[in-house]
Amino acid sequence: MTEQFDVIICGAGPAGTTCALALGNTGLKVALVDKNNFPRDKVCGDAIAAYVPKVLNTINPAYAKALESFTAKEKVNTIRVVSPNEKTLDISYGEDGFISMRLEFDNFLLELVKQLPNVKLLLNTSVKDIVIDDKGVEVYLDSSLKLQAQLIIGCDGEQGLVRKKLTHTQLDPKHHAAAVRAYFKNVKNIPKATFELHFLKDVIPGYFWIFPLPDNRVNIGLGLLTKTVSERKLNLRNEMLRIIETVPYLKERFEGAEMISDIKGYGLPLGSRKVSISGNRFMLCGDAASLIDPLTGEGIGQAMVSGRYAGWQAKKCFEQNNFSATFMKHYDKTVYNKLWKEHRRSYLIRELLINKPKLFNLSVNLISNNKFLYNLTKKVFN
Ligand SMILES: Cc1cc2nc3c(=O)[nH]c(=O)nc-3n(C[C@H](O)[C@H](O)[C@H](O)COP(=O)(O)OP(=O)(O)OC[C@H]3O[C@@H](n4cnc5c(N)ncnc54)[C@H](O)[C@@H]3O)c2cc1C
Repeated sequence: MTEQFDVIICGAGPAGTTCALALGNTGLKVALVDKNNFPRDKVCGDAIAAYVPKVLNTINPAYAKALESFTAKEKVNTIRVVSPNEKTLDISYGEDGFISMRLEFDNFLLELVKQLPNVKLLLNTSVKDIVIDDKGVEVYLDSSLKLQAQLIIGCDGEQGLVRKKLTHTQLDPKHHAAAVRAYFKNVKNIPKATFELHFLKDVIPGYFWIFPLPDNRVNIGLGLLTKTVSERKLNLRNEMLRIIETVPYLKERFEGAEMISDIKGYGLPLGSRKVSISGNRFMLCGDAASLIDPLTGEGIGQAMVSGRYAGWQAKKCFEQNNFSATFMKHYDKTVYNKLWKEHRRSYLIRELLINKPKLFNLSVNLISNNKFLYNLTKKVFN
């Protein structure tokens, strides 16, 4: 059986759902395919950047309002950096971000998509193969259904099939991180509205995190460059347990706490290099396009920004009946104009400061004790 669409979006994470929202009410017939049923978990720190409501607002102010009313989130407005010599620096930033379990946040976005009459959801359905020729795109699913369209948008994450089938881009351990995550409850001394990054001396430039969730729960995790993990032959699950069981100031806080999930791991394709993220009749968004901040590991906001731009670019493709690789390059340009400067800055901070423990310790000391430097740092984070 074959079903006709204008656009096929592969993957219904933040990139795919935002892309579908940007294509809402355009008159285009859109298929949004995901191999999972929702709500579904995604291994993540669950930290949602403060600019995310603005992204939704540019698509439809009602979506930003809906996010305001969404309650399964914990507000954060301060970042706590703990340096290798265990000095604490709290930097408050101007706007509220939040922590929300991906099980709930991704489902919130999907519920918005369900209200769009021009988007058909195909959940629990895997894309197995993609063929592109002059006439269009054919997508083979794990069911007997085949989809045809003019354009495919790959929002299928780190191991995405769309990137693998349609580009030569390979994941590179120098531009890739590995991380593990678990949920705990009753961890002691959780500071108010603060997410904590602990740059412990034996894991830098990676970090151990504690992010607060509603109901006295926290998301904790450990992330490091994949290159470092393989060079040091680290087992991240064991490493994370070692940290909470043996680093004295953390051990105290985890005494009496309860782990309420498994420890799960996943990869992060970092945006510390530019790769091609489009071609003839296709675009890539979010993790499929390697758009994660190389210092903080944030990728949800970037997935939504790129998903939105891909939706808008798709609209232009239909207006001008042009699906060529050359026309699609406007998309690469728009995405990198928006994200590259910040990713480059994060990369430099990671390599030139965080990766040098003595300099990092000194900087944290200086910033904590000097109002001018503190305000300057605040500006960098805002
Ligand atoms: C441990 C860890 C911690 C992180 N912490 C944070 C954080 O705190 N804040 C932050 O902003 N970012 C964080 N990130 C990064 C963030 O998780 C990703 O950047 C984000 O999920 C990217 O969204 P996406 O929509 O591109 O991909 P995903 O969220 O991975 O969604 C991809 C979707 O595609 C579907 N799919 C895959 N293949 C197929 C197929 N063949 N057919 C159909 N569907 C398919 C999947 O089921 C999935 O639903 C973290 C990542 C990790 C690994």
